[in-house]
Parts: sequence; structure tokens; C-alpha cells
Amino acid sequence: MLRRPIDPALHPEVPGPGRPAPPGYEFAGFRRFELVLRQLGGIASRRELLAATDGDETSFWFALHYGYLDRVRTGWYAAATVPPDARAAWAAGGPLACVSALVHHGVLDPADHQIDGTLHIALGRGGHRFMTDRPVVAHWGDEDRASGTRIAVSLETALRQARWCASAHQ
Ligand SMILES: [Zn+2]
Repeated sequence: MLRRPIDPALHPEVPGPGRPAPPGYEFAGFRRFELVLRQLGGIASRRELLAATDGDETSFWFALHYGYLDRVRTGWYAAATVPPDARAAWAAGGPLACVSALVHHGVLDPADHQIDGTLHIALGRGGHRFMTDRPVVAHWGDEDRASGTRIAVSLETALRQARWCASAHQ
């Protein structure tokens, strides 16, 4: 695996900051991960990305180094299409849950409720809550966490969680 920055003098063909790609230039290795990420539902692990790209570690490194890959937290990456709240939730450990998932599903209007930036997230029993700059309410449970996608739990699960969530009714 490549560990040092690319020397532009040695590799003038590689686009990067200050070296825009010439017209018609397409370096598939940089952008393919965005497409793969979208195909994988928006959020994927490094292992999944490599598995989906024939283990192309060099392209992976290039993409990460030049800002074509958005690292959510260690080993996890998000497509540009992932909503900021879902990205922040995954950074904290899991998909949007409870009232945050209801907002995502379009059931709850954040303006009608004082959601105040707190993220409600779903964590599996063996899950880990990562520290982030957003206040987080964790909802624990393997089934709930797996009920939807990596973006948000299912609508049904979110409704049930919100019904019982103390901090959703303050
Ligand atoms: Zn909640």
C-alpha cells in the first residue's frame, strides 16, 4: 500500500489539489468509490469498498488522499448523497432512530418539534457509541438497528421508539 504523498513531479498525470484534470480525463479509480458507495446504500466499510472494487487498495488510497472519499469514522465511508444527519448518526455509531428517523422518513417536521440538534441513533447490543460534537440519545437493540438501513431504522421501528423515548417528549 502506498504510504507517501504522490509527488506531482513524478506523476503529473494524476489530478489533485492545484492540478485539475484536463478535459476529457477520467481517472476511474478516484470516482468509482462514490458510485460503489451509492450502490451499497450510501454508507460502507473499507472492507466492503475493497471487496466491491477487486481489492483496489491503490485507488482506495488515492481516493482517500485526494478527498474523493468521505470518512465518517475509522473504517467507514459515506457517499455524497447521504444526508448530514445520517452521516452524523453513523459517526456516533449507528443509523438514525426514533424522532431523528421520523424526520428522515418525512413523518415529523423538525420545525414542529424541539429536536434541538439531538440525534437519536440505533446501536446494536455490542455496539459502540463514538463521541461526536452532536448530543446523542442512543436506542439499544439488535433488531431495531437492523430494521432499516445504515441511514435510518424502519418507519415502524422509529414510531415505536419515539412513543417510548423520554427525551422525545420533553
Ligand atoms: Zn429517542
